[in-house]
Amino acid sequence: MTQIGGRIRAEQGDLNMTTRLLSRRQFVASAAATGVATLGFCRRATSADETRRKIKYIDIHTHIGAFYYGRELTADMLVRWMDQHDVERAVILPLISPEAAPIPQTTQAAIAAHKAHPTRLIPFCIVDPRATTTNPKRYGHVAGVKGLIQILERYKEAGCKGVGEHKTGLFFDAPQNMYLYEASNAVGLPILFHLDDIRNIDTPGLPRLENALKTFPKLPLIGHAAGFWASISGDATFESFGRYPKIPSTVAPGGALDRLMETYSNLYGDLSAPGGEKAIARDPTFGREFIIRRSDQLLFGTDILMPDQKIAQFELLDSLDLPEDVQYKIYRGNAIRLLQLDELD
Ligand SMILES: [Zn+2]
Repeated sequence: MTQIGGRIRAEQGDLNMTTRLLSRRQFVASAAATGVATLGFCRRATSADETRRKIKYIDIHTHIGAFYYGRELTADMLVRWMDQHDVERAVILPLISPEAAPIPQTTQAAIAAHKAHPTRLIPFCIVDPRATTTNPKRYGHVAGVKGLIQILERYKEAGCKGVGEHKTGLFFDAPQNMYLYEASNAVGLPILFHLDDIRNIDTPGLPRLENALKTFPKLPLIGHAAGFWASISGDATFESFGRYPKIPSTVAPGGALDRLMETYSNLYGDLSAPGGEKAIARDPTFGREFIIRRSDQLLFGTDILMPDQKIAQFELLDSLDLPEDVQYKIYRGNAIRLLQLDELD
């Protein structure tokens, strides 16, 4: 790094501290009122503010319902929150596997939310692949991959743009999970998955994820949660798949995510939740370069699931001062391409 680069980062650090003390709008308003906007640091704040308002977010990861007892987030509440945070559209992810949520959040509820807010809320659908066995003689109520395809096709016709949140207590490439990937691939819907030490389980290096990426090279697989994001670092252990990293902690070279994203263009990363946030915040220099390097394969997300939830992603991404084309891609462009959405702007 050059000295100039270091100086710019130091100035940005000062600016970030200033903007933390005042809200963004208070800061810009007070700077404009007092005429200090002619100072260099204020000019940067003003242009960052304009950029933020210009590129509206598409949130790839939200939930409606009462994930926590008494803390229900309704579709109307979610849309009000989106209005406050420049989130133009949001994906509603159902959670139905027994390991996924205390109370199931259904695909039907996601579709109903879309019908109530058709221009704002995008429904995904999910089926737990244990709805079928892998025994062709005794599949149960769902006839293997064919049965899963029928279910997903009905959801697609009802407006669903993807499959997820896929969050089962199986190994990532367990036979039933592979059935679900095969069905999603056949129907043409991307799949957003949770990966940690107890859901869609994999091990350091992510060999089971790689098996799915390799088997279905045209199926977009969007990764989320502690185990997926621990794999940004070459020193990830199985224990680290079940917890969040210390802030700060250096990212070791040779992480599975860079290797897999380089090899498989169908792998995407969902920046939501503490997993996505801390993977970047633990080592912001690496994190910024990772985002720029993988800007075609990353998606903005929050994982908001209850009222008054603190979302760290807004401030974190602002603090990185990303190039505008990178912001566009990760805030909305990649979601538009992947989910085949209309550009509303
Ligand atoms: Zn989630």
